[in-house]
Amino acid sequence: MTRHALISGASIAGPALAHQLAARGWRTTVVERAPQRRDEGQNIDVRGAGREALRRMGLEEAVLAAGTGEVGLRFVDDDGAAVAEFPAGENDTAGGTAEMEVLRGELSRILLERTAEATDYRFGTQIRDLADHGDHVTATLSDGEVVDADLVVVAEGTRSRTRDLVLPDAEVRDVGLQVAYLTIPRTPDDDRWWRWHSAPGSRSTSLRPDNLGTTRAMLAFLTDVRGLGELDRDAHVTVLRRTYADVGWQAPRVLAALDDAPMYFDAVAQIRLPRWSAGRTVLLGDAAWATGPFGLGTSLALVGAYVLAGELDAQRDVGAALARYEERMRPFVAEAQDVKPAALRAMNPRSSTGLAVQRTVLGAVGSLASVFGGLVEKLTGPPSEAIELPDYPAPAPLAAT
Ligand SMILES: Cc1cc2nc3c(=O)[nH]c(=O)nc-3n(C[C@H](O)[C@H](O)[C@H](O)COP(=O)(O)OP(=O)(O)OC[C@H]3O[C@@H](n4cnc5c(N)ncnc54)[C@H](O)[C@@H]3O)c2cc1C
Repeated sequence: MTRHALISGASIAGPALAHQLAARGWRTTVVERAPQRRDEGQNIDVRGAGREALRRMGLEEAVLAAGTGEVGLRFVDDDGAAVAEFPAGENDTAGGTAEMEVLRGELSRILLERTAEATDYRFGTQIRDLADHGDHVTATLSDGEVVDADLVVVAEGTRSRTRDLVLPDAEVRDVGLQVAYLTIPRTPDDDRWWRWHSAPGSRSTSLRPDNLGTTRAMLAFLTDVRGLGELDRDAHVTVLRRTYADVGWQAPRVLAALDDAPMYFDAVAQIRLPRWSAGRTVLLGDAAWATGPFGLGTSLALVGAYVLAGELDAQRDVGAALARYEERMRPFVAEAQDVKPAALRAMNPRSSTGLAVQRTVLGAVGSLASVFGGLVEKLTGPPSEAIELPDYPAPAPLAAT
């Protein structure tokens, strides 16, 4: 009998799992709270095992073709002059810019398009209630529909609400970093570099090229204030204007664009949980293990989707498959969550002196790997070599739409 998975969240982890389950003959339904596919955000790196998972899903070429064309990471001073440059390398595990550098929204689009025929997507819909009957789960959706599923997968990101219905003891550990990702108009002098400017007070501004004719801006700052993620958009705009009021370089341009720019505001946090599943409901991606500030979330979401689908295929018993999935993913997640606060502070100096030291060190070294005894590599490079992707029999490829 065809098995049915109800997946909540249509960003990266959810559609990637739908792709892998549909290819293995599952019926898949994906509910997403947003009224349509979300495009916000900026470049994300897919490296190491994440890239291998995409390759095995048959999506590597499509994602490479949608690349941003970013040529490397350049730290700049107040006048925009280069302090240090780190060109994109062929090395897949180190450096700021990965070979596979794609907009989060573009990767999500590719995953949704590849699964559009095989998956029932319901936008503007959420899970309101879940009842686990042992051999299946009944979900009540926000539109009142009642859905039976063999498995419910919660892929709702760091601040997941459905997670609270089944595993309410998640520890949400705010790391103090607030990041606003904005899409702003491109200007003629925007080049193909990721340009990063730091200002005293642990505030950075960066601009990155995209392949869609716009520029992706990021305002990131460290603060002891908590709860900023719960504010609404107007409040985020006010906080950003006040925080960056005296910052130079391109910050005034980004602030001027704030009112109209698509924005994703992230109060960066790690999620820690003793278990990732309860009965027939399982967490996947950031909802299970958000790793925090270093951009590993997408690679881990892809790996997690691949492993979860592979284990569900390998073991008919759902409980056994969920246990094996957790066993396989835990070591990768533990490695990725091992974030030292010193690394964050090194990249976001508080004082002018700290900033001067950062610029001197950046200017003096030849590779990101050697900066701060490897701290920058920790910031920008995943422990992808630590991940060995398990082998599962390849499913039938899904037709491209
Ligand atoms: C709009 C957006 C922009 C992002 N931009 C960046 C970026 O620039 N750089 C970066 O490193 N990371 C970014 N991220 C985070 C990154 O996508 C994740 O770290 C990683 O890809 C893992 O993805 P995920 O699918 O597990 O979770 P997420 O990408 O967080 O996706 C969760 C999805 O679930 C949906 N959702 C939430 N609650 C519910 C609910 N109750 N019911 C149904 N659906 C729900 C959300 O709308 C979202 O589509 C962004 C995430 C989002 C949602």
